[in-house]
Amino acid sequence: MTHTTESGATDLLPRRPRHRRRARRAPDPVHHTRHALLLHGHRRASLHGHRRASARSELLHTPPRASEPPPTVATMTTARTRPRISLLITDLDNTLWDWFEAWHASFSALIHEVSRMSGIPVSTLEAESRAVHQRRGTTEYSHLLNELPSLLALTPEPMKEYDQAIHSQNAARKKTTHLYPGVMATLQRLRTKGVPIVGYTESIAFWTEWRMKTTGLDGVLDALYSSPDHDLPDGVSFEAMRTLPAEEYGLKKTSHRHVPAGAEKPSPSILRGILTDFGGNEESSVYVGDSLIKDVVMAQEVGVLDVHAAYGVSQDLPGYELLRRVTHWTDAIVQREREAATTAGHVAPTYSLGRSFGELLDLFDFAKER
Ligand SMILES: [Mg+2]
Repeated sequence: MTHTTESGATDLLPRRPRHRRRARRAPDPVHHTRHALLLHGHRRASLHGHRRASARSELLHTPPRASEPPPTVATMTTARTRPRISLLITDLDNTLWDWFEAWHASFSALIHEVSRMSGIPVSTLEAESRAVHQRRGTTEYSHLLNELPSLLALTPEPMKEYDQAIHSQNAARKKTTHLYPGVMATLQRLRTKGVPIVGYTESIAFWTEWRMKTTGLDGVLDALYSSPDHDLPDGVSFEAMRTLPAEEYGLKKTSHRHVPAGAEKPSPSILRGILTDFGGNEESSVYVGDSLIKDVVMAQEVGVLDVHAAYGVSQDLPGYELLRRVTHWTDAIVQREREAATTAGHVAPTYSLGRSFGELLDLFDFAKER
């Protein structure tokens, strides 16, 4: 997915037809200005579709007056006509809730407790966890302990032996799983306006449903698109692993639809499929997500209004190294994510939410499709 340009710089964007591809360049004389404008959402709905190229050229070649401050959400709402939006499609992890915080707290609790009980070094458990995560295609693998070689050397059923550690993991997950401030109020506001809300996540079905129910979003989102559950070893089933009655699992109100197993963002075809399912068009649909290389790139590829949930970015947090050490992502994806915010791999969002999800209400005029 990467290739090297003549200048030797690595172009980190997915290939796409040249006529639809936006230029992502190393800094030019107006780069800083352009970037500031984009990050303040200083682009009109007319930037989309056939007028996008000329408007971008205007941004590139018309320096702002020195006395003119960068636009803010407040100035935009009074001075400009906000794009009218009739469909919201949103990422979930680190856009609606702080997935990273909950994952870090719960995985750390598990590994440290297992290490304490077993005497196996944390570094060994982490390395073995990565191998399992890569094999299973998820960093939230419920059967993890039973597939760690160093634990299997000690006991035939690590999940039973270290049940206390799994309880610690679950307790930490529950304690740290919550919506970002303003998310519920914003989504409820859209519901009262009759605007459909669709979630699209790479995360697997089980834990996404759990988070939806834990945060009270079942029924707030009209539909959820997620990966199906991960594979389990032969002879093991989710039904057998679950301790509550069957009716306790699954969403009750939000329609849950599975994307093909292994489909990862950016997946423009899935996003286009969501537009089709909900009768949305590019000009009046918004896609929100925290990942530049997955969410923003995908939305731009499809041509819907892309919004970066910048408040959810976690890559600079000290604990993020743990996720890099054990992730199911390939080394190439990890590297691409590192570089997405740098000059070489820069991905420029059209709109950015600096502080909260609720800023969507300032940027757009949400209304039911007429
Ligand atoms: Mg996310």
